[in-house]
Amino acid sequence: DNPFAGARVCVAGLGVSGPPVARALLARGARVVVVDGRDDDTTRPVAAALTEAGAEVVLGDTPLPEDCDLVVTSPGWRPDSPLLARAADAGIEVIGDVELAWRIKPADQVWLAITGTNGKTTTVRMLESILRADGRDALAVGNVGTPVVDAVQPDSDGHVHDILAVELSSFQLHWSNSLRPHAATVLNVAPDHLDWHGGLDPYARAKGRVFARGTIRVVNTADAWSVRLAEEDGDPHTPVVGLRLDTPRTGELGVVEDLLVDRAFVAEPHSSAEELATLGDVRPAAPHNVANALAAAALARSVGVAPASIKAGLAAFVPEPHRIAHVASVAGVDYVDDSKATNPHAAAASLNSYASVVWIAGGLLKGAEVDDLVSGAASRLRAAVLIGADRERIREALAKHAPHVPVVEVEGPEPGAPAGHTVMDAVLARAAALAEEGDTVLLAPAAASMDMFTNYPERGRFFAEAVHRLR
Ligand code: ADP
Repeated sequence: DNPFAGARVCVAGLGVSGPPVARALLARGARVVVVDGRDDDTTRPVAAALTEAGAEVVLGDTPLPEDCDLVVTSPGWRPDSPLLARAADAGIEVIGDVELAWRIKPADQVWLAITGTNGKTTTVRMLESILRADGRDALAVGNVGTPVVDAVQPDSDGHVHDILAVELSSFQLHWSNSLRPHAATVLNVAPDHLDWHGGLDPYARAKGRVFARGTIRVVNTADAWSVRLAEEDGDPHTPVVGLRLDTPRTGELGVVEDLLVDRAFVAEPHSSAEELATLGDVRPAAPHNVANALAAAALARSVGVAPASIKAGLAAFVPEPHRIAHVASVAGVDYVDDSKATNPHAAAASLNSYASVVWIAGGLLKGAEVDDLVSGAASRLRAAVLIGADRERIREALAKHAPHVPVVEVEGPEPGAPAGHTVMDAVLARAAALAEEGDTVLLAPAAASMDMFTNYPERGRFFAEAVHRLR
């Protein structure tokens, strides 16, 4: 019953998911051909290792191999990329790494799935911490940490984890069709990756695929899309568990005074409530992060985790870097790195956490609008320092919705040149000059970083280093 034995499978893309996917398929006796358009110093060593392992590798071009039975694509590849379009025309099934992992996982391994525009990594990490505090053999998988295909196969000690906290991107869900997690949540939906999906509706619909037949649906009652996807997708016979930041109703988790409270997974749902943790157990302490903690708690409760383990797991959770990370206080001004705010919705959440902000923003907006973000934050802005390719759009929104806010722009380096420290030093010099005592200088770009930096961690690191040079 190994559908991959002898099958000819094309692995599209040698990025993060490609090599583990290729190895998993080789281990199942598939005839694997890996293709990647890049033929350079990053792809060649990986290609050599996969050739050694028994795969055929084509670099510098992306032909659809002859006699291909299945394509497993890197999730970021767009459906209209030539190889995938050709596969679709030829009626060949295209799946992503997560779908492959689902098909090869041990039947008794439990998946708790987390998707949403923002908060995925934080929430899977919180969930992993909670499950471990409860003594479960759990692992967080996804963008950060172990690739999902590796987590469904025995490791070098022959061990496979019992429970996975699975982070799922909209791309991975787009390329999946048979996932059935035990429980799942859509944390929130806001414009992001619209250019890839072709609009908000298809982007949200991709996320809705996480609610499958038999999946317990955990929804954020404050997010219209989260509620709607749970109503329209998934199985009407499985429970919908609501999350809210105030008093929970029956069937929900919420907050009463400073307590996180469960009124869903309790023995007598109509009368009782379980106290799970306090707001003080949640870090970073910001309202959007309490929503993440409630989601992690609900997923953990869906597999019977004890209330005391929720508290212990949240308290033990170590926040990920570049997510509302306090870098330093200099001359009475706080400097905060939220480089991971790569879309307007994430930037709004962090801007709302501070009273008076010098906002560092800009980069690649990926098709998102910034009007709501800017009008919503206008009263909190002391000033704005804009960088990056799409800064013009943010400048226009500021002129329209926050005309009182001083705006400076810092030119990037020439296209293609590494941004380096010089740009961030210039940005921090301007920001420090605009900030007054008690303000927060906040890097929350609302945009992706790749126009000027290698990635968001590099952007955050350059920011932090420039802050330290201010002192
Ligand atoms: P993801 O893995 O979905 O990108 P992260 O946990 O890495 O999520 O957080 C991404 C960004 O979104 C960070 O800037 C963070 O401060 C912000 N954020 C986290 N949770 C939420 C939320 N529930 N709502 C809005 N913004 C959030």
